Amino acid sequence: MTAQGEHATSTTAADVPRRNWAGNVRYAARAFHRPTSVDELRRLVAGSNRIRAVGSGHSFNRFGDTDGDLVTLAGLPPVVDLDRERGQVTVSGAMRYGDLARHLHTQGYALANLASLPHISVAGAVATATHGSGQTHGNLASAVAGLELVTADGDLLRVDRDADTFAGMVVGLGALGLVTRVTLDVVPTFELRQYVRLDLDREALDEALGSAYSVSVFTDFRSSRLREVWRKQVADQPPPPAEWLGTTAADAPRHPVLGMPVENCTPQLGEPGPWHERLPHFKLGFTPSSGDELQSEYHVPRTAAADALAALDDVAHLIAPVLLVSELRTVAADELWLSPNHQRDSFVLHFTWVDDTAAVLPVVAQVEERLAPFAPRPHWGKVFVTDPAELAARYPRHADFAALLRHLDPTGTFRTELLDRYFPR
Ligand SMILES: Cc1cc2nc3c(=O)[nH]c(=O)nc-3n(C[C@H](O)[C@H](O)[C@H](O)COP(=O)(O)OP(=O)(O)OC[C@H]3O[C@@H](n4cnc5c(N)ncnc54)[C@H](O)[C@@H]3O)c2cc1C
Repeated sequence: MTAQGEHATSTTAADVPRRNWAGNVRYAARAFHRPTSVDELRRLVAGSNRIRAVGSGHSFNRFGDTDGDLVTLAGLPPVVDLDRERGQVTVSGAMRYGDLARHLHTQGYALANLASLPHISVAGAVATATHGSGQTHGNLASAVAGLELVTADGDLLRVDRDADTFAGMVVGLGALGLVTRVTLDVVPTFELRQYVRLDLDREALDEALGSAYSVSVFTDFRSSRLREVWRKQVADQPPPPAEWLGTTAADAPRHPVLGMPVENCTPQLGEPGPWHERLPHFKLGFTPSSGDELQSEYHVPRTAAADALAALDDVAHLIAPVLLVSELRTVAADELWLSPNHQRDSFVLHFTWVDDTAAVLPVVAQVEERLAPFAPRPHWGKVFVTDPAELAARYPRHADFAALLRHLDPTGTFRTELLDRYFPR
């Protein structure tokens, strides 16, 4: 028995994380498991009345927390199977994007987009519709062409884009089964350059967001001006001109959170490099972001960017004291039922908060109230307090997903308290 009262089962179950990356969630599981084969995983699921998978634990809420069994799939034999003809790669669900990216690059391939950090697992990121930035690029789940998962009865189910319910299964919140393999679309490898520009006028936000392959704008709600624009542009395109949109060029590398080490960040100052060393803000071997933090994020229609930002003006004095940094991004629309980008090109407002849940939650509620006219869809892996009925109304396929849940998991094997709140049985 450990201090939390849980006991370890299966090989090296001690390696299963007991808390999430941020430390605001200590997993309540009664037992932790690290199976080393798919058959062992199938037996584990078949014999459990409540079980969940944990990826790399980078989510900030309790969707993945269970009082039953918590299992990491990181002990399963790794799979990376590149199909050059189809332009797809099939990988283990537990593989980190950073490891996959390195491999793909050596084979002459790339993924169209990546999140700000490469540390996250493919299955965990896809389950929550994790995204990068770029108004013509979908979120990471939109690149999924197939899934293999262990369903509640311990069966192995394979689905691909031809399946009727596929669009409902990809952003599955970990609630439809334990994902052992994911097939992703790939593209030929490419090079990017990253330029940071300082002090953007809000009037120029729309133009800045659409100005390169992937653009992130950082701000702190202490001024109406926007602090930094991180432009990740295709390497053979010319750099932004000296007077670009009234900004000035950063003359040294930056970290999104002021005062944090710039060594943790991917190269800037226009140095060309492969896609996977420019699209994430943070390097694989280093701590991403701050570490002592919480995060929230809201997707609103792309066309509402300026209005949504302006709607937060009268709560900026509440936001700023509990904020480390805010990031503004874009994501292209997709058809996935629970994707925050479902049938909606999106403008995305991200908040990296201080590590103080009690101080942050009231501000989160204020932010959600101000954004409500834009029907914000919260990031499934971050902190939000949205009323379940309101959230359901923002997803046209919410009822279909709830039906899929009942169909694939009739006895609630993968149910968690938070899932029950947003998808009542
Ligand atoms: C520093 C930092 C930066 C971030 N940057 C971004 C960003 O740029 N863009 C963005 O969109 N998000 C970002 N996030 C959020 C993060 O990408 C998501 O929370 C993502 O889900 C984390 O992946 P994970 O592997 O850690 O999943 P976990 O947090 O471990 O799990 C997430 C969910 O997936 C389920 N799950 C995990 N593995 C499996 C599996 N094999 N089968 C079935 N279900 C599974 C879990 O049960 C849980 O419900 C960031 C988070 C941090 C901490």
